[in-house]
Amino acid sequence: MRPIVAEISEQALAHNLAQVRRYAPHAKVLAVVKANAYGHGLLNAARGLKQTDAFAVLNIREAVTLRDAGYQHPILLLEGVFSAEEMALVDRYRLDTVVSHHMQLQWLLQSQPNMPLRVYLKLDSGMHRLGFQPADYQPALDSLSASANVSEVVLMTHFANSDLADGVTQAMDIVAQVMGTQAYKRSLANSAAVIQQPHTHADWVRPGIMLYGATPIAEKSAASLGLSPVMTLRSALIGVQEIAAGESVGYGSLFTADQPTRVGIVACGYADGYPRHAPTGTPIAVNGVLTRTLGRVSMDMLAVDISDIPQAAIGSAVELWGNLVPVDAVAQASGTIGYELLCAVTARVPVHVID
Ligand SMILES: *Cc1c(COP(=O)(O)O)cnc(C)c1O
Repeated sequence: MRPIVAEISEQALAHNLAQVRRYAPHAKVLAVVKANAYGHGLLNAARGLKQTDAFAVLNIREAVTLRDAGYQHPILLLEGVFSAEEMALVDRYRLDTVVSHHMQLQWLLQSQPNMPLRVYLKLDSGMHRLGFQPADYQPALDSLSASANVSEVVLMTHFANSDLADGVTQAMDIVAQVMGTQAYKRSLANSAAVIQQPHTHADWVRPGIMLYGATPIAEKSAASLGLSPVMTLRSALIGVQEIAAGESVGYGSLFTADQPTRVGIVACGYADGYPRHAPTGTPIAVNGVLTRTLGRVSMDMLAVDISDIPQAAIGSAVELWGNLVPVDAVAQASGTIGYELLCAVTARVPVHVID
């Protein structure tokens, strides 16, 4: 067995869910488990998050996977259905669905569900991806509330800038104008808004990244927000090199030693999902000691500086990210965000649930 593994902590998931409830004590929680639960494995994550009030997924396959595993929670399709035919599956699997444009509205109104459905009506509050324009929102709401196919409408929007300290002001103005004082329940907040925009919490919050213990806010570490990393990406040294000043490591010879350097070779590369653009100096831990990567990440390997870790040898434990090395620190060094790294772990990396 190649030594790489992604360990998933169910305790950390439960802890982070409890943190969501601490930040938003009056809201119910739609735990977002799209993208294979941000790379953690849909069913692994669902087990750790079973205390949630509901799940949110991207497509029907994910929803069916949860139902087949026995989850009775409400399950929301975050982008709604992609065709009229899918409405039959929404009915059969008792799913909640987003309606964000006129065709979805027609598909829903013309479907014949056995039981009326809970529908989230999406407003475009300035992101300009999905959602009804403010002027079209009330007519859509009127036709939903008049339909026998609908048991409940939840008013919904998604913020473009909730990670910025005053990033929801404009969007909340639009929400106030359009949703007004309607008696319907509302769902507005993603993780960043859960953490720093309490006036957006409303009835249902939709946290994703914070459940996995990474930060939604660039300037704030996950630890400082009370979040625990769920995934630890571990591997081991499979080679050790002693190089002299002037010698280089890896493809392109991007790192050249300026003094005698002890180099460890780690069984992890971009084919495992580690970012190829991580530069020399990206944080990594060997034998529990923080150090730095050296040179270019290759497909199956990368190099680390073990000059100051004399006990490091072939077989020594390496943490690519987890408790010692926040995934957000690797992401920042690589010019991306923790979300992308977690989602990008590839299928060849075995996933083990711990605790
Ligand atoms: C992905 C998603 C979320 C979760 O966002 P995070 O930033 O991960 O908390 C919430 N709502 C919608 C509509 C989404 O697509």
